[in-house]
Amino acid sequence: MTKFEALGLQKSLLDAVADLGFKTPSEVQDKAIPILLEDETDLVALAQTGTGKTAAFGFPLIQKIDRESRTTQGLILSPTRELCLQITNELKLYAKYEKSINVVAIYGGASITDQARQVKRGAQIVVATPGRMKDMIGRRLVDISKIDYCILDEADEMLNMGFFEDIKDILSNTPKEKSTWLFSATMPKEVSVIAKKFMHSPQEITVGDKNAGATTVQHEYYVVGGRDRYPALKRLADTNPDIFSVIFCRTKRDTQRVAEKLIEDGYNAGALHGDLSQNQRDLVMNSFRKKQIQMLVATDVAARGIDVDDITHVINYQLPDEIETYTHRSGRTGRAGKSGISMVIVTRSELRKIKAIENKIKQKFISKTIPTGIEICEIQLYHLANKIKDTEINEEVENYLPAINDVFHGIDREELIKKIVSVEFTRFYNYYNKTRDLNTPDSGEQRGSRRGDDQTPGSVRYFINVGEKDGYDWMSLKDFIRNTVGLGKDDVFKVDVKDSFSFFNTDAETTEKILSTFTEFKVDGRFVNVEVSKNPGGGRGRRDRSRSGGGSRDRDKRSNSGRGRDRSVSSKRRGRKSSGNSSYSGKRRDKRKSDFF
Ligand code: ADP
Ligand code: MG
Repeated sequence: MTKFEALGLQKSLLDAVADLGFKTPSEVQDKAIPILLEDETDLVALAQTGTGKTAAFGFPLIQKIDRESRTTQGLILSPTRELCLQITNELKLYAKYEKSINVVAIYGGASITDQARQVKRGAQIVVATPGRMKDMIGRRLVDISKIDYCILDEADEMLNMGFFEDIKDILSNTPKEKSTWLFSATMPKEVSVIAKKFMHSPQEITVGDKNAGATTVQHEYYVVGGRDRYPALKRLADTNPDIFSVIFCRTKRDTQRVAEKLIEDGYNAGALHGDLSQNQRDLVMNSFRKKQIQMLVATDVAARGIDVDDITHVINYQLPDEIETYTHRSGRTGRAGKSGISMVIVTRSELRKIKAIENKIKQKFISKTIPTGIEICEIQLYHLANKIKDTEINEEVENYLPAINDVFHGIDREELIKKIVSVEFTRFYNYYNKTRDLNTPDSGEQRGSRRGDDQTPGSVRYFINVGEKDGYDWMSLKDFIRNTVGLGKDDVFKVDVKDSFSFFNTDAETTEKILSTFTEFKVDGRFVNVEVSKNPGGGRGRRDRSRSGGGSRDRDKRSNSGRGRDRSVSSKRRGRKSSGNSSYSGKRRDKRKSDFF
């Protein structure tokens, strides 16, 4: 008997387990699956990210579903569209030998009618984000009044994102007699409130330390020339428009100087160090807490008192002398179950320090490249487009519309869109257009590159013959590729959707998988074709040109200020990895249209 058999799973599911290559159940699976299979019970399960929670509820759920009935019996709520798709995808793999089980994903940003149609066809399991679920209940597009199982996945994240009221509303549409299973990485107060309010004497299982936040800090380093630290810092900030960060410098003088430069360049920055009066420090900390300051430049001593939970990035402008100090710095992010990124700007000669830190923290750093100017423009452009898309309409503008329509009279939609995004984009474009690449080739040990090689290895660019015309935007195309090939959240990047075709990148090791998946691959009877692109991608194609154009360093000092950044759009970890050429020199396809625009 295999270990999965011992948990009580039926044959069809065990076959799926075998296909998935799962050999031994993880601890949370080991504990949860037998309970959920055996009893009709409420359950609270706490386990960190990456411990296999999806299978812990997914297998029992599928086994318990009545296959004969097409009624919706299981509802899974999950915080993001991304996770929603991931869970749906996993459940479909679990149920691959259970052809009569239908799992449907419901999430925002995609056609509600399509989703409603899928539900109507008979979805025994619905995986939903709270916002879209509420919407669909309101429009009677989904019926959850007969469900037997309700799963709250990543409950802490959902509550962090402010879904409490939505969840409450959704649950009020479900029957009293059902089992509720709550899965969470951490157990903050809000989660216990939900458990108390909506669950009946739940059984509780805990894997690992109950209060430990998930260890979700990713460590990255960027190798630059000694004099490029400041422009590199700016680019890192511009690559992450929603950054909320602490930047560490070694001395009070550097701290003050970097903060002043950032402010001069138009960033919402502030300085925190020992030469400031208590009153000044309080003011800075207050603004930071209110997120009026997005980049807090601090010395190690002064940063000790920072007790802010949702810092997205820690940036080491310079490395500290003591390794211990690095641990304190990076611990400022990734708190309360959230993920965070700790970035280090280093020079070549400091690379051995990275090794020393890796040994100490027992975690590997990822070697990353500072984005080129054009890559930043691209990111800002997408960010802007999404921001416009997500902007809530202020009804007050109604009064002015007739006059405004007069102004725009005769401009068609396409042109208007171009103009709108150009308003902001041109500023970045003019600023970055002629800047040079800041990356210094590192020692090569970490990413196996040839020293001095101008190409950035490790990433491959592809051409795919679907685009906007087929209804894709960069997010949905990314999801499509990820789900089709079975890749992780950040494995597909630099997705650039054109009218009838698109580009995207993956790490080189994924290339074989990508190409084999998309061999003879059809969607709705049409071949979807993927090829390695000749075009190196993003800004790289332009870099040489901008170099010859003599990107003067002084340009990096000019301001690109005045960004009213929208903090409600959560920080996108787009997993920007090194772009560029690879050993796969593109063979075919002559789509040499600029890879950008
Ligand atoms: P969580 O929800 O706890 O963050 P996931 O359910 O997303 O974790 O699982 C993380 C990864 O581990 C997934 O890629 C999943 O396929 C894999 N996984 C889950 N259970 C097992 C197992 N028993 N053996 C091997 N891999 C597993
Ligand atoms: Mg999960």
